[in-house]
Amino acid sequence: SPELARAEHLIREIPGYPQPGILFRDITPLLADGQAFGATVAALIEPFAGEFDVIAGVEARGFLLASAAAIAAGTGVVPVRKAGKLPQPAAAIDYALEYGTATIEMHADLEAGTRVLLIDDVLATGGTVAAALELLERLGYPVCGTAVLFEIDGLGGRERIGHHPLHTVFGS
Ligand code: IMP
Repeated sequence: SPELARAEHLIREIPGYPQPGILFRDITPLLADGQAFGATVAALIEPFAGEFDVIAGVEARGFLLASAAAIAAGTGVVPVRKAGKLPQPAAAIDYALEYGTATIEMHADLEAGTRVLLIDDVLATGGTVAAALELLERLGYPVCGTAVLFEIDGLGGRERIGHHPLHTVFGS
């Protein structure tokens, strides 16, 4: 659609952030544009319509997308947070970053059987999404899939998340 094409053009490329050699894709101009944001959020959830009861969003940019998507879908939202931010973390998982490790946590107060759609902004190496999927699986929640705005090619992200359905709004 023309709205999505325009939305894609609003993603800005910043060389050298957060480190030299990295080309960072900055989605803040897209988020700031009401029409682009609305079209993007609609496209994010469209393939999973009717397949989920709640949306899990990954800190921090994933929160912005997951909250808007939850309102659009008529569901609630659950934060998947970095370590130490939740008052009652039910489960935590460590995962490897390019340098070092990170931990994400979530509460487990959803009803058993609640179907979850996982949302983050970008799939790079897939480490973050793979860890969130494993966390949801450990807690026993059925996951219908993962939706992101786009994946960064050549980092093996799609392979890393294996059999779980992955939807990207912009290209591949
Ligand atoms: P991964 O774990 O390597 O897949 O990295 C994904 C995480 O890093 C996501 O939560 C993204 O928010 C973030 N990320 C990696 N590259 C970019 C980028 O170019 N733009 C925005 N976020 C990025």
